[in-house]
Amino acid sequence: MTSPAPVVLVFLDPAFPNGRLADASKPQLMATDQGAIRGDGVFESMLAVGGSVRKLQAHLDRLDSSALALDLENPGQDRWRKAIETGVAEHRMQHPAPSPADDELVVKLVVTRGVEGAGSPTCWVQVSPVGAAGRRQRETGIDVILLDRGHDSGVAERAPWLLMGAKTLSYAVNMAALRYAHKQGADDVIFTSSDGRVLEGPTSTVLLAHLETSDDGAGGNRTTRRLVTPRLDSGILPGTSQGALFNAARAAGWELGYGPLEPQDLLEADAVWLISSIRLLAPVNHIDGKEIGTPAIQKQLTAELNELFAGIQ
Ligand code: PLP
Repeated sequence: MTSPAPVVLVFLDPAFPNGRLADASKPQLMATDQGAIRGDGVFESMLAVGGSVRKLQAHLDRLDSSALALDLENPGQDRWRKAIETGVAEHRMQHPAPSPADDELVVKLVVTRGVEGAGSPTCWVQVSPVGAAGRRQRETGIDVILLDRGHDSGVAERAPWLLMGAKTLSYAVNMAALRYAHKQGADDVIFTSSDGRVLEGPTSTVLLAHLETSDDGAGGNRTTRRLVTPRLDSGILPGTSQGALFNAARAAGWELGYGPLEPQDLLEADAVWLISSIRLLAPVNHIDGKEIGTPAIQKQLTAELNELFAGIQ
């Protein structure tokens, strides 16, 4: 048996301005908490590099909008910032990284509706090391299968109670899709809608790149680099990584596009990635067994986007 990864917990507690440290090896949650019983709550997963959380403001803002979608009380961002600082500092003190390159932590924020009848949310920060598999997939890339998400791409607007754009604790379906993919020998999933649109991964945003070469009017050629992601209103979670990378790519001269995308667009792309805060850019090598793009171009574009993404704080 492998020993569990070292976890630090910090609960948001009005009596502790910087958060209350709690022992992760002991029970900490009431069995009647509605987060445990109904998955009624929201969360965020963020990456801390060298002790500093990347895209912190974007994550805190998305936590606010997820909580708002569920009519959930959410402590102010200042309280979250203090508890995060406490948790990250404690983890780095208790379990120092073996080298600066390994100094990466997953910082999870959780808000549940709390114990039934108590009328106040349960909120905590969980800090743990980044898993080896995710870090490896940044280098090796991944094989993906397309799976039907079971709804059409207009559902978010038509049925807001389905909470499509919120990062809720109800991830059982996403995890089941990943297990299904692993049983088929794949690493990950891209969901499609019942009307044939590309949506997102169970824990990531889909990106594709197209290179277009045209006459530059001066006897030479000009290459346009275009980065595309599915429409944000198609019932997907707005990714903080995609948003930040798009801003950096625009400044670096890339053209940007927002779907709608169909599976054929992925198969015809020069490169496809699944992007998220912890695993970062995972290049997609195959979709349903079909090779995507060419390895040399994929490698070059991945290096370029990784460099842009590394500059984002
Ligand atoms: N889509 C889903 C369903 C996710 O769960 C995630 C991240 O966990 C993402 C997209 C990517 O979001 P981010 O880039 O903010 O990590």
